[in-house]
Amino acid sequence: MTRLCVTDNAGSARRGSLKLRSASVDTPFFMPVATRGIVRYVPTELIADLGYQVLLSNTYHLMLRPGVEVIQQMGGLNAFTGFQGSSLTDSGGFQIMSLEASITTEGARFRNVYDGSWVTLTPEQAMVNQQRIGADIAMALDVCTQLPSSRDQLEANLRLTSEWAERSRLAHTDSTQALFGIIQGGIDLELRRQSTEAITALDFDGYAVGGLAVGESHESTLEAVRTVVDGLPADKPRYLMGVGDPYLLAHATALGIDMFDCVSPTRIARHGTALTDQGPVRVKGLPNRGLDEPLESGCGCRVCQRVSRGLLHHLSHVDTESAGALLSLHNLAFQFRLISRLRQAIVENTVEEVLADVDSVWSRPAIRTGVSSD
Ligand SMILES: [Zn+2]
Repeated sequence: MTRLCVTDNAGSARRGSLKLRSASVDTPFFMPVATRGIVRYVPTELIADLGYQVLLSNTYHLMLRPGVEVIQQMGGLNAFTGFQGSSLTDSGGFQIMSLEASITTEGARFRNVYDGSWVTLTPEQAMVNQQRIGADIAMALDVCTQLPSSRDQLEANLRLTSEWAERSRLAHTDSTQALFGIIQGGIDLELRRQSTEAITALDFDGYAVGGLAVGESHESTLEAVRTVVDGLPADKPRYLMGVGDPYLLAHATALGIDMFDCVSPTRIARHGTALTDQGPVRVKGLPNRGLDEPLESGCGCRVCQRVSRGLLHHLSHVDTESAGALLSLHNLAFQFRLISRLRQAIVENTVEEVLADVDSVWSRPAIRTGVSSD
């Protein structure tokens, strides 16, 4: 049912469309993160207005509150969020790692962040939850590893990730919902190769590269991505999880990644930073000159069309939530513009030109990536 149709190639980069249950979406694409059913501070209809076709929600948070039964009774995730488009749910693996859960062969046991009760999540239960929530794309439950980590630890987690992937595959029965496997292995290239081989042998609808952009250098991230992509089938979608940094997004697209997600564009917005073609801008520190101008001339978003730098600067001092809401919308417009420019560059075979522009502004880590909920 899930089918990737590649229409253009430029080096390793590819552009195309991904056919999902509800619609076909353009690749490569970036997914805003609606952790608890909404992208914080951003009305959902504005996400679709910006051009986004796929929204990511966090299974971990939704299964605890309001609970998968409630979402299922409401008609599934799209009815629950009101997003007019396609959807993806993560498995919960990344949040579980953040909670320092106890991991056994059976599954992960951790504390419910809302009431402190104990919760066990098995690969099978992660499939039941995601099928009931009803996103267009579900993710197998994996074991993330904090970096840096010993090779023994990485190897043990890799074995478990492969076992859980197989169990997820068996437990997933809804053929209309795409299921992606997740490749782990940290920045150890040999382990990445092993994981790629083990996970692709299970024949998922798509493949995700997990556990990256968690503090390692950009070069290490991209080296791991290159190693995984080399072992992936060309006819399946490739998803680099938790990455939204403009430099990594552009370079990973050039390596052949089709999908991205990250909370950072909206998280840094709530802390007063705008993403612009000139680099990150702290709104609080805007100079007096040019306060009557838009945040970024040439940005077509409704903030840049209607709101002055002066108002954003003022709000950043007296009403940080309103400033954060406006900056969140602009930053999502920036991300969409960047991925759209890359899509166009693949058609025109000008990806190198986009990379040169991105390198000149974003070669230093600008935004914290590898965070999948907020
Ligand atoms: Zn804007």
